[in-house]
Amino acid sequence: MKSFTTLPLSQAMLDNLEKLEYEIMTPIQEKSIPPIISGSDILAQAKTGSGKTAAFGIGLLHMLNVKRFRIQALVLCPTRELAEQVTGELRRLARFQHNIKLIKITGGLPMRKQEHSLSHEAHIVVGTPGRVLKLLDRGSLKLDDVKMIVLDEADRMLDMGFIDEIAEIFRFAPSERQTLCFSATFPDEIKSLSRSILYNPVEISVDTQHDSKIISQHFFRVKGTEKCQAVTSLLAEFQPQNAIIFCNTKDACRKVGKELISRGLHSLALHGDLEQKERTEVLIRFANGSSNILVATDVAARGLDISDLGAVINYDLPFETETYVHRIGRTGRAGKEGLALSLISGKEDFRLHQINQLVKENFSIEEKAWDAPLGTYHLPSMITLSINGGRKNKISAGDILGALTSEGGISGNDVGKIDRMDYITFVAVKREYAAKALEILEKGQVKGRRFKAIIND
Ligand code: ADP
Ligand code: MG
Repeated sequence: MKSFTTLPLSQAMLDNLEKLEYEIMTPIQEKSIPPIISGSDILAQAKTGSGKTAAFGIGLLHMLNVKRFRIQALVLCPTRELAEQVTGELRRLARFQHNIKLIKITGGLPMRKQEHSLSHEAHIVVGTPGRVLKLLDRGSLKLDDVKMIVLDEADRMLDMGFIDEIAEIFRFAPSERQTLCFSATFPDEIKSLSRSILYNPVEISVDTQHDSKIISQHFFRVKGTEKCQAVTSLLAEFQPQNAIIFCNTKDACRKVGKELISRGLHSLALHGDLEQKERTEVLIRFANGSSNILVATDVAARGLDISDLGAVINYDLPFETETYVHRIGRTGRAGKEGLALSLISGKEDFRLHQINQLVKENFSIEEKAWDAPLGTYHLPSMITLSINGGRKNKISAGDILGALTSEGGISGNDVGKIDRMDYITFVAVKREYAAKALEILEKGQVKGRRFKAIIND
């Protein structure tokens, strides 16, 4: 366990890390930052939640020449959400220095706007492979000055079918560059891609097994028809602060989401059929505490980073045992104890056997009477209001907080996260103040203008 101060970083960067309350390096940071700083290529194996973003982010920001307004680093991520999170984390890490410009390039958003941002010079591009390649092909993105390329969650990008795009993107990059590849697993395609894009890489691996002391894991026998009843009972019994419920299919996800609502719980469903706008809204409402249950498929939940997830519930056990490890890795992060509860129905006992082999444990199936009287699971404490103005309307989080808390308003302690998109802002407030907050936003003025607000519940 080493402190960041042992690294040869600028005092401004170290001060910023201290402000972020990053003191001790995570194992992947401790092993990868020194070789990254010294200019080596990296092939690193690390699980979700291990602190990969800061590992490459610190190295990337360290090598950046801020005075030179050229794209010097490219970070490729498997999904828009992940790109969004990486952008956010890089922005936080970059706060130590003025004027570091970052552009996010992902699908599902108008290409022209991204081209417009690219026409103003920037230092770093974070994006998904499909859209990055499109902009390279159109000539609106140039990699001539790129010094570093990062593949974040390379195996997930492979799953998403991006392997050809990635190989193609590298054809646009200078051969003299530093390449960092992070992946939780190393299937053959990743190994062979690595051989073609990495030069003499330093290989790094941190424990991929989750420590069972940190994630408490339980398996329960259920009948197929009892599953929602079982989920409701488990939430009532364990009272996690919040939970993700994993289903194997979109249909199950939709159905379970609805059934939990009909049982009086506050759940949101996240699956591939949602439009980008809806996905963003769901993720924001879950992350800001306006909902405490997210029912999701693996694909939809990929890259989602909620750092203090109370529990992962496997409504269905995944088809692949590795997916189990990925799923439960979302709870118990950053030293907090996690909770993973899995339902086993029908002829799935062999899946538990496979899991035991992979995680080197000997878990057994617990039996419970699911028809016992239910306790209740708490409702979320917050609620989200959306306001039809955002970053591009020059509204800041401070403007909104100011309007809500000005004379006769609500207390700052009752206002939660404020998430600004380009043209819409989401603000979380304590549930009991929803109506009051709505009234303030509708009647009052934010920055001298009147905006429309609605409650999303
Ligand atoms: P990964 O990409 O490996 O899944 P992230 O980079 O998203 O993980 O980091 C997971 C969480 O841990 C984030 O909330 C991040 O802010 C936090 N974190 C990362 N490094 C540290 C550190 N050294 N000390 C404390 N928190 C950290
Ligand atoms: Mg990450």
